[in-house]
Amino acid sequence: MSLLANDPKRKTWLDTPEQTDFPIQNIPFGVFLTRDDIITIGTRIGDYAIDLGALHQLGYFEGIELTDDIFLQDTLNDFIADGRKTWRRVRNRIAEIFDENNTTLKVNESHKQAVLFSLDEIEMQMPVQVGDYTDFYSSKEHATNVGKMFRDPENALLPNWLHIPVGYHGRSSSIVTSGRKVHRPQGQKLPKGADSPIFGPSRLVDFELEMAFITTAGNPLGKPIPIDEAENNIFGMVLFNDWSARDIQKWEYVPLGPFLAKNFASSISPWIVTLDALQPFKIDSPEPIKPLLPYLIAKDKKKSYDINLEVSITPKDSTETVVSRTNFKYMYWTMSQQLAHHTINGCNMNSGDMLASGTISGPTPDSYGSMLELSWRGENPLKLKDGAERRFIEDYDTVTIRGYCKNDDVRIGFGEVKNMLLPVYKHK
Ligand code: MN
Repeated sequence: MSLLANDPKRKTWLDTPEQTDFPIQNIPFGVFLTRDDIITIGTRIGDYAIDLGALHQLGYFEGIELTDDIFLQDTLNDFIADGRKTWRRVRNRIAEIFDENNTTLKVNESHKQAVLFSLDEIEMQMPVQVGDYTDFYSSKEHATNVGKMFRDPENALLPNWLHIPVGYHGRSSSIVTSGRKVHRPQGQKLPKGADSPIFGPSRLVDFELEMAFITTAGNPLGKPIPIDEAENNIFGMVLFNDWSARDIQKWEYVPLGPFLAKNFASSISPWIVTLDALQPFKIDSPEPIKPLLPYLIAKDKKKSYDINLEVSITPKDSTETVVSRTNFKYMYWTMSQQLAHHTINGCNMNSGDMLASGTISGPTPDSYGSMLELSWRGENPLKLKDGAERRFIEDYDTVTIRGYCKNDDVRIGFGEVKNMLLPVYKHK
């Protein structure tokens, strides 16, 4: 089925800002509370949130096989489970409804009343119920930097890294959306030179600039997803901040990997941008450094995506400073390889599962995706615009990640994920 919704020439009758992340070619999916406190599945064009539940009730999706309540739900899981053909039909139809040459909804004031919301009338929710969350470790630059700091500068990359998209199973209960405040965690840490740990607030709270993809129920238990079919099982992507506590991490991570240093919070941008909308931004995947096993080799070499990313820090009541600019294209392992690897043992994916990329660091020091790397363990503090210095994240700092793709025709963006770090939770 063709991606009519991606037509770069299409214009909409809605008023949209010039530089929006959400032109009519984007059509992301999310879940929001309306002004009447009703939860619905929706999309966004410019600065309008569009109630897909209302559109469906008014008959605008006639001819597409959808259950009556598919959009009247508090998560996208069932819609995602309907599969790529349905996502495409719905995106194409939304593009038609809001096309400048289609006046059906444009001239119907009562329908517009029911369907269109301004952004300050709505409250974004978690778009999916995440059953399982996996975090990869797929940026070679990041893995090399961390290996140098935490282990051995001479052998920064472990021997398996160039053969396996390394990952671990994370925790889904603490994945929150943009806007939600996050508490500084407490835990065990080993002071320098000490033999036994102390307990207290993490002093090394960090962000990890990542992206995550959301899967459909692609395979029954036991059946791997072949690499060339992987993208058919990916619904879309969000920005992902994998909050981390480096002091807790350093003490606990051997031998089984990250645990409490990572599961106190991860935050995501609330609009899922479909993989279909990102098709114009596909680029060549990195050349493998070591020969790959066949199940990790895709026929199509264009499995990477050109997505500009940045992260900023805003201290309390102060100005924002961008501390890193990087790109999703720097990932050594592609989403297709990650999904093929994740399922090669027969592990089954469910609709709404979230697979994060791992910290996305670029090749230069100003493109690193964490404070750990940007300040190099705190040895080189960053100067912020207001004169303050940062080694790691301080209480009441707001961390914002933004991302967008752009070519001569169109800009497809993700909006932002923006969260403030609060002090340690205090019992009342
Ligand atoms: Mn991570």
